[in-house]
Amino acid sequence: MKRLAIFLALWCSPAIADAPKVVADIAPVHSLVAMVMDGVGEPVLLLDASSDPHGGALRPSQARALGGADVVVWMGAGLTPWLAETVARGEATSLALLDWPGTATLPLREEFGGHDHGEHEHEEAGHEKREDDEHGHEDHGHDEHEEHAHEEKAEEKHEHGDEIIDPHAWLDPMNAMLWLAEIATVLGKIDPLNTAQYAENARAGMAALKAPTTEAREMLASAQDTPFAVEHDAFQYFENWFGLTVAAAHSAGDGDRPGPQRMRSLLARLGEGDIRCLFAEVGPSSRLLSRVPDGVQVVKLDPLGAGLEPGAGLYPALIRGMATDMAGCLSR
Ligand SMILES: [Zn+2]
Repeated sequence: MKRLAIFLALWCSPAIADAPKVVADIAPVHSLVAMVMDGVGEPVLLLDASSDPHGGALRPSQARALGGADVVVWMGAGLTPWLAETVARGEATSLALLDWPGTATLPLREEFGGHDHGEHEHEEAGHEKREDDEHGHEDHGHDEHEEHAHEEKAEEKHEHGDEIIDPHAWLDPMNAMLWLAEIATVLGKIDPLNTAQYAENARAGMAALKAPTTEAREMLASAQDTPFAVEHDAFQYFENWFGLTVAAAHSAGDGDRPGPQRMRSLLARLGEGDIRCLFAEVGPSSRLLSRVPDGVQVVKLDPLGAGLEPGAGLYPALIRGMATDMAGCLSR
């Protein structure tokens, strides 16, 4: 009997050894890939909790992981422009989820809830933005190199006026469900032996997302019309999916640092008294958070799952956690 067990273990191990080497960019995407690869292998998480996807530089260990990968599953250049060249140069199959035709995407937004403030600010935005890109070091502590990259990106955006996609699309649970199927298809092509397993896992993953999504909807149902503000405009997909009402944001969805005008405008909006919650993100605080008026509660959300255990359980926990934290403040 023991021999049989050893024999079976050896027999089964080639599938594990031959599992494709898959690298995923952020923890929520890694979680979806882990669901699909369950029982076959484990994906590598490229950006840990301390990394800011919007701006970074590749560490040697990360470059090695990308170099040895068969497949890279990532949001795409819209979230991590600094990864794009390495992924394009590598041999790995790239699955950029933002670019996949089935993905529901939303344009990066500048205006909120039809409020007047936005429009006035917009007229000056180009001017203000450039000035701040040269002088402002206040919030994120990016180095000179990144500073420059941000500046170029800002120029491009304002001068050509292209519609830019908000890259935080993993916060739409329907996207996550669609991606499970897409990830299974891509892995099945590379690893035909496990095609059926990937497809089965993707179905199980979709089923596993239903309960947290329904719970989140129930938690947030009574808070749909309660206006709130956000520090970084990262939650548009979540708001959209759960029907929430955002009234103002400090920094835009691409992670560019906001100018002093935006901070003044947001503080003025918070001063009007109808907004009781400002949602920020876990991680270093910006100057803004120390200046919010009394009566506005600052709540830190975790849209990247930085405080969660990476793996298949992370994505459902992330949706549950975001809904719990938002509802906790909005339903006060
Ligand atoms: Zn972001």
